[in-house]
Amino acid sequence: MQYVPFGKHGFEVSRLGFGAMRIPMIEENGERHPDVQRGVELIRHAIDQGVNYVDTAYVYSGKQNEDMVGEALKGGYREKVKIATKLACPYIESRADMDKMLDEQLKKLGTDHIDFYLLHALNKDRWAKMKELGVLSFLDEAVKDGRIKYPSFSFHDKYDVFEDILTSYDWQMAQIQFNYLDINEQAGLRGLRLAGRRGVPIVVMEPLRGGALASPPPEVKKILERYPEKHSAHDWAFRYVGHFKEVAVQLSGMSTREMVDDNLKIFDEITPGCLSERDQRMIGRLRAAYKKRMPIPCTGCAYCVPCPKGVRIPKLFSIYNESKMFDKPEELPRDCGYYVKEGVDASKCVGCGLCEKQCPQSLPIREWLKTVHKEATENK
Ligand code: SF4
Ligand code: SF4
Repeated sequence: MQYVPFGKHGFEVSRLGFGAMRIPMIEENGERHPDVQRGVELIRHAIDQGVNYVDTAYVYSGKQNEDMVGEALKGGYREKVKIATKLACPYIESRADMDKMLDEQLKKLGTDHIDFYLLHALNKDRWAKMKELGVLSFLDEAVKDGRIKYPSFSFHDKYDVFEDILTSYDWQMAQIQFNYLDINEQAGLRGLRLAGRRGVPIVVMEPLRGGALASPPPEVKKILERYPEKHSAHDWAFRYVGHFKEVAVQLSGMSTREMVDDNLKIFDEITPGCLSERDQRMIGRLRAAYKKRMPIPCTGCAYCVPCPKGVRIPKLFSIYNESKMFDKPEELPRDCGYYVKEGVDASKCVGCGLCEKQCPQSLPIREWLKTVHKEATENK
């Protein structure tokens, strides 16, 4: 495992962070819960192998993720890691709500302080609302009374909004979506560089773009096969992000022990500046090949659900993108079939537009749903 100093904070973090968002879930009495036993095993295994950064959030796993992480960090594990968790801004309506949520989170996580406390998924409107409610004085006070160490934020919006937020407060970390496909989306490469100039360490989410970069289409595979240096598709994606010195930690949502072990091997080799110029040109070709094939730039973040009509937007988009990426139109109706049976397919959209207000990628979700429905019906 490679470690880097976290800004000027005087400690080092593992360049691989455990993203607890995707820990396995189980269904009991019709309700979904985190599989606590497997989650605890996975997190402890990663920590035993050198991972010292664990990321969770109030809203993950039906608001039960922090409890699971708290369980994993019992028995001496808490002291071995930095915890990052997030204030769920959509649930906050007053200054008092902020204190209440933070106190609840400390309890769930079984700790007296949170290392990185992020305002979750800031965008233009959410940032304005949170400022209005006094979030900056809340952060100052929570640092002062020791409940949090490093005020931070995670981000989903355009670059200009990122610049505004980054330069409005003494942030100690920013978490952004960054991968070799998204260099010009959201904060992007410009945002990364800006944070670097201001001495704000970056934590990267979605380095594999919701897993898509780990399953390459034929054109991408061909480029990788022809390239003399051999690494897996997801290894190259992690390398690309880890090449930037501004990136302290990459979060990987790991849900099996094999994934953890595979990632550990990869991160043994990822150092800032690890890509040659030739590697970078090759990754540029991968990017172009992907862009050509993925019609819907959906990251699977699921901020758009639940939809009032139950439409499973991220699932349907992922099925559509995959059918295009792998050139298998016949799989579209087959894979949509389950959602049709459940009554949550694209045809159930009534066009209310609620989902589009939540989408960090500003996708015209309603239009895409029409396309998905049309093609799924035509290819039957
Ligand atoms: S526009 Fe359609 S998919 Fe979006 S929330 Fe409304 S009904 Fe659901
Ligand atoms: S449609 Fe938008 S909000 Fe929904 S999963 Fe895709 S990127 Fe996220």
